[in-house]
Amino acid sequence: MCLYRFTAVYRCLQLFTCVYTGLQLFIDVYSCLHVFIQVYSCLQVFTCVYTCLQLFIDVYSCLQVFIQEFTDVYRCLYSCLYVFTAVYRCLQLFTGVYTGVYICLQVFIGVYTAVYTGVYRCLQPKLPLNQFYPYIRCALCCGFLIDATTITECLHTFCKGCIVKNFFYSNRCPTCSIVVHQTQPLYNIRPDRQLQDIVYKMVPFLEELEREQMTNFYKERGLEVPKPVMVSPAPVVVRKQKKETVSQSIFTIPPELDVSLMLEFVGAEEGINNYKPLERRYVRVSGEATVRHVELFIRRKMELSPACQVDVVCGDHLLDHYQSLKDIQNSVGEEALQDGLLVLHFGLVLPSES
Ligand SMILES: [Zn+2]
Ligand SMILES: [Zn+2]
Repeated sequence: MCLYRFTAVYRCLQLFTCVYTGLQLFIDVYSCLHVFIQVYSCLQVFTCVYTCLQLFIDVYSCLQVFIQEFTDVYRCLYSCLYVFTAVYRCLQLFTGVYTGVYICLQVFIGVYTAVYTGVYRCLQPKLPLNQFYPYIRCALCCGFLIDATTITECLHTFCKGCIVKNFFYSNRCPTCSIVVHQTQPLYNIRPDRQLQDIVYKMVPFLEELEREQMTNFYKERGLEVPKPVMVSPAPVVVRKQKKETVSQSIFTIPPELDVSLMLEFVGAEEGINNYKPLERRYVRVSGEATVRHVELFIRRKMELSPACQVDVVCGDHLLDHYQSLKDIQNSVGEEALQDGLLVLHFGLVLPSES
C-alpha cells in the first residue's frame, strides 16, 4: 500500500516535473520567439538602411545625370554663341565688301561722269559770244549791261547809269524812240536782275571786274565801299540787327533821327557846270523830313543856282517834294534799302520851258 502510494506520489512528482518542463519549454519558446522578433526588427532596420543607401545612390545618379545635362546645355549654348559670332563676322565682312563695292561704284560713276562731261563738252559746238551781243550789250555805252534796267513801255534794256543819264535830256527810248513817259520817264523803268545774272554768267570775270572797279572808285575817293545788295535778304532780321548794333555802338544817335540816307549823285544835265561835289553822302535824318528838305540840303551843300532843278529818285520812283522819308521807305519797301540805308539818287536838270 505504501509502495503504491509512493509510486503515486512519484508519478505526481513526475507529472509535476513534466508540467514544469513543459512550462519551461513554453518559456524558452517564448524567449526564442522574442529573440526572433528582435532579429526580425533588426532585419527591418537593416532593410531600412539599405533602402536609404539605395535612395542616396539614386539621388547621386540623378545629380550626375543633371550635371551631364547641364554640361550639354552649356556646350550647346557655347556652340550657339560661336555660330552667332561667326555669323556676325560674316555680316561684318559682307558690310565691308558692300561698302567697298559701293565706294568703287561711286568712284566709277564720278570718273564716268567726268569723262562723259569732258567728251560732251569737247564735242559740243561752241557758240561764239558775239552772237549774243544784241541781247547782253547796252546800246548807249556799247559795253556789257551793268545793272540791267528795262523800259516797261518797249522792253528795251540798258545799263541803269546809262538810261538814267539819258533821261536827263530826253524822255524817249534811245533804241526805238517811243515816249517812255511825258514828264517822268524814270517811272517806267525796272531793274532786270535775271538778265543781269545771265550777262554775268555769259561774260567771264565781268562781275569781278565790275566789283573791283567799284571798289577802286570808292577807295580813291576815301569812301566806304558799299556791300553788294543781297538778292534774297532776310529784311526784318537784317534791320533789327542793324538797330541793335547801332544802339550798342559807342556813339549815341538821337532816337528821332531814325532814317539813314545815302545820297547818290547820278549826274547833271548839259549846261549845268557850276556846282560843288557833295562831300557828305551819308546823312541821318528824321523820318518826318520830306524830299523838299533833302533837296534844300543838296542845294546848300552843292551851292546850286536857283535856276537848277534837283530830281530825287528812289529805286524807279521819281519823288515829290511833299513825300516824307518814312512814307518813301514804307511804300518802296526793301527795294529802297541797301544795308539798312535808304538810297536816294538825285540828278541836276534845267527846268523844262513850258
Ligand atoms: Zn550802258
Ligand atoms: Zn525802246
